[in-house]
Amino acid sequence: MAIDTPAKLAMVGAGPIGLEAALYARFLGYDVVIFEQGRVCEHVQQQSHVRSFVPFRWCCSPLGLAAITAHDENYQPPTDDARLTGSEWLEQYLLPLAATDLLSDHLQLHTRVLGIGKEQVRKTDRAADLPAGDERGDWSFRLLVQDAAGNERIEEADAVLDCSGVLSQPNYCGHGGLPAIGERALRGQIDYRLPDLLGDERDRFSGKRTLLIGHGHSAATAAVQLAEIQQQDPATSFTWITRHEHQPATGPVRRVSNDPFPSRAELAAQANAIAQQANSWHWASQVEKIVREPGGPFVVSLSVPIAGDHSYDNILALVGYQPDLSLLAELQVEPDFATGGLRDPGTKLIQPEDNFYLLGAKSFGRQTGFLFRDGLAQIQQLFAILGDRPTLDLYAAGQPKLE
Ligand SMILES: Cc1cc2nc3c(=O)[nH]c(=O)nc-3n(C[C@H](O)[C@H](O)[C@H](O)COP(=O)(O)OP(=O)(O)OC[C@H]3O[C@@H](n4cnc5c(N)ncnc54)[C@H](O)[C@@H]3O)c2cc1C
Repeated sequence: MAIDTPAKLAMVGAGPIGLEAALYARFLGYDVVIFEQGRVCEHVQQQSHVRSFVPFRWCCSPLGLAAITAHDENYQPPTDDARLTGSEWLEQYLLPLAATDLLSDHLQLHTRVLGIGKEQVRKTDRAADLPAGDERGDWSFRLLVQDAAGNERIEEADAVLDCSGVLSQPNYCGHGGLPAIGERALRGQIDYRLPDLLGDERDRFSGKRTLLIGHGHSAATAAVQLAEIQQQDPATSFTWITRHEHQPATGPVRRVSNDPFPSRAELAAQANAIAQQANSWHWASQVEKIVREPGGPFVVSLSVPIAGDHSYDNILALVGYQPDLSLLAELQVEPDFATGGLRDPGTKLIQPEDNFYLLGAKSFGRQTGFLFRDGLAQIQQLFAILGDRPTLDLYAAGQPKLE
């Protein structure tokens, strides 16, 4: 069911994709509101020390650059090939974008969306339950939001774009993806995001024992950086465990075949070499139980091949994230049974619930590998669907001129 301007669109999350989607909507003349639980791009802010594998030209849009330039004629974007840290991406693109006239008045920061439902109809109302001629899409969405003071209110919208990412919901590190025994109580003491190991948080790891869990690129970065700390302070140690049983000769980090990002390929190679040399990597090992007395080390029960109780000062559980599906509980949405995101986030954005869309990192669910440019492709596709204009592509025109 097409929605034409001047309908009201609500974005959940002012991450990179929420901002870009809102900008695209503003260019088309939609009324837009962006609810953000924290600061602009809160998740990028929380990983601001991480350097991208991806060149800047794939971390910006022609609309974004045009909007910033229209707002500030002295704006100098980073070079196309620059690989920025999160804080550089924020300072040199994302924050200037959020500050443009097109977006700044539409942002509601420190405002969390608690749930999304519909006016008049319930999740259980199928098309056959509605009066003849009525459709679920005829009714507005109702969003329950909470501001920084804790006050709740209802906001309405004609369409909702859920761009809330996954970083707020880390996976548990226990066997089978369940919380290890005792893990839930220690949630606030375990690191589920890559800390700034070579910067602000170095002292917490230098000369200490760390249990590193995970086989992705965050775990690879942690291994390389812990090895660097260890070189300068030999009292530093780490044990790296991964759950897969796959061929140990390849090392813990799976290589992307024909990786288009040389620095990512190099990181994987470096981390795999460290794992083999340091003899600190144990594959097919699982976390069964975690105990910590106040002020003491973590005592972690691991399965074979290093079965037994082991003491660590830190646990780096870099085991991925999952989408918050509670937001969708009252809608007719079909998350993929394996990832919790869309079944085919590259091409199929349409859900049974008319005018509700999952976009950005959340659309990939637990599947890793989402890149900003995947989100831009989704935005282009979504607005062609939303306005029923199959050939619409504001990005194709390059850098549009703003009056
Ligand atoms: C360590 C790391 C490095 C990465 N490096 C790159 C890279 O180099 N290049 C690249 O293209 N991609 C990279 N990614 C992927 C990156 O996550 C995305 O490109 C980008 O951040 C995704 O944008 P998003 O808007 O979909 O989600 P997010 O950035 O996760 O933004 C979601 C926003 O929604 C907000 N939110 C969440 N729940 C609610 C709620 N209930 N109510 C209101 N607001 C809410 C959050 O606070 C957040 O601001 C990286 C990811 C990680 C973890």
